[in-house]
Amino acid sequence: MRINIGSLVGQQGSSLTVERELPGDFLNDVPEVRKVVSPLEVQVEVSNTGEGFRVTGNLRLKAVLICTRCLREFTGELSTEIEEEYRRTPVTDFDHNGEDFFPEDDIPLVDGDEIDLTDLIRDSMLVSIPMKVVCDESCPGLCPTCGAVLAEESCDCDAQDIDIRLAPLKALLKTQERRKDNGSTKEKTFKSEN
Ligand SMILES: [Zn+2]
Ligand SMILES: [Zn+2]
Repeated sequence: MRINIGSLVGQQGSSLTVERELPGDFLNDVPEVRKVVSPLEVQVEVSNTGEGFRVTGNLRLKAVLICTRCLREFTGELSTEIEEEYRRTPVTDFDHNGEDFFPEDDIPLVDGDEIDLTDLIRDSMLVSIPMKVVCDESCPGLCPTCGAVLAEESCDCDAQDIDIRLAPLKALLKTQERRKDNGSTKEKTFKSEN
């Protein structure tokens, strides 16, 4: 997504706002995302700070996600805020000897009269996805013994002593054992995150 900032050039303190809908398909590659079901809504404000152009705004999109506790699908919203400053010329800095200078690559540059928000938007959305996506904060997950979805059904297993966070892992291991029983020799190692 590119924004023309020509009207802000030379006008310190001026700003403009842009709202746009972009395809959010790139998020379909994320394991926790089953399917993106809305456009990526982008709202940004660009202001001329005198030193550069500051971009602030927010991003939101709806997607069918997979709960890491119960492994069920649910529709949720992913959203995040963005903030970045773009410069017209590279910011340079002196090295330790005070002789040479080098450009700081991590400060993005204005391209002609446009700023390109593509990378910023993409990276910000990817980072916004929680490490542990859950359908509900109180999701009880799966029964570690029989794999029952505890939000939907109860079972007769005594699971009191087992950490509920390990339930999805156990369910996976169980699937794995079943696969082995079916003659598959492919082995995988599962590691606990704790
Ligand atoms: Zn859940
Ligand atoms: Zn059970």
